[in-house]
Amino acid sequence: MILPLDDELMKTLRHLHSGSAMHWVGNGFPVRSVFDYNGLGRELSPFLLLDYAAPHPFPPGNERRGVEAHPHKGFETVTVAYQGELEHRDSSGGGGRIGPGDVQWMTAGRGIVHEEFHSSDFTRKGGTLQMVQLWVNLRAADKSAPPRYQTLLKGDIPVVSLPDESGELRIIAGEYAEMRGPALTFTPIHLWDVSLRPGKTTTLPLPEGHTTAILVLEGSVVTPDGRKAAPGDLAVYSREGGGLSLMATDDGVKLLLMSGEPIDEPVVGYGPFVMNSLDEIRQAYEEFQKGGMGRVD
Ligand code: MN
Repeated sequence: MILPLDDELMKTLRHLHSGSAMHWVGNGFPVRSVFDYNGLGRELSPFLLLDYAAPHPFPPGNERRGVEAHPHKGFETVTVAYQGELEHRDSSGGGGRIGPGDVQWMTAGRGIVHEEFHSSDFTRKGGTLQMVQLWVNLRAADKSAPPRYQTLLKGDIPVVSLPDESGELRIIAGEYAEMRGPALTFTPIHLWDVSLRPGKTTTLPLPEGHTTAILVLEGSVVTPDGRKAAPGDLAVYSREGGGLSLMATDDGVKLLLMSGEPIDEPVVGYGPFVMNSLDEIRQAYEEFQKGGMGRVD
């Protein structure tokens, strides 16, 4: 039996945040920037940036949509596909295809060049695309790590039932109820897809001191101060407190929960590079321009 946590030990809502207006990333990803490293991303360490592509229909076509080869350095990009199918190739030889329920966890580390496109199958057939891309910072010491690519398929992501038939939780990274998610991470991170049935409440244990936020994907939740967080909204919670209580409205809710140990180091980001100083950003640009981050063959 899980005892309810004392109210005083719970994380509290810091604020509710709606992202920017929709804009296109390349010609494939209609996203809202929910936060980035120049704004809320500072408070949300180790999370730097989150782009959300809400469900968007694409007609069948011949032209592969997406983003041409571009670099990254100093962090990781985590792409969660909810609807539609994506293809990835990078300069480290990594690559793969992810569809609904799959996740791609790419470590840019010391530098990578990659391209991100709709899959050829999805392009040809058309359909609805829905995805999240989350950037996760690396400690200064890990920014020089070799690039790595993890394809986390739906079947390898454990699904756990929440108490009292309130819903279920998919463990992409971290752990819940002694089950571990498949993602290898550099610092302690929990990344969970949570679904709650209509009107249900659940309490999730989360580490004291961890940054914690949720992105609502479908339906809505009631925040501790009685407001409603709707699709596309980000609710940011206190680092203090060892648990998070979530209450679904009558529509139920699907949300992405991110929680991680903050990295207490300077964050200097510019475009696709996130380092610790402006000097390192300049070096990253030079390195990329000289071809030092490789290319996608
Ligand atoms: Mn990219």
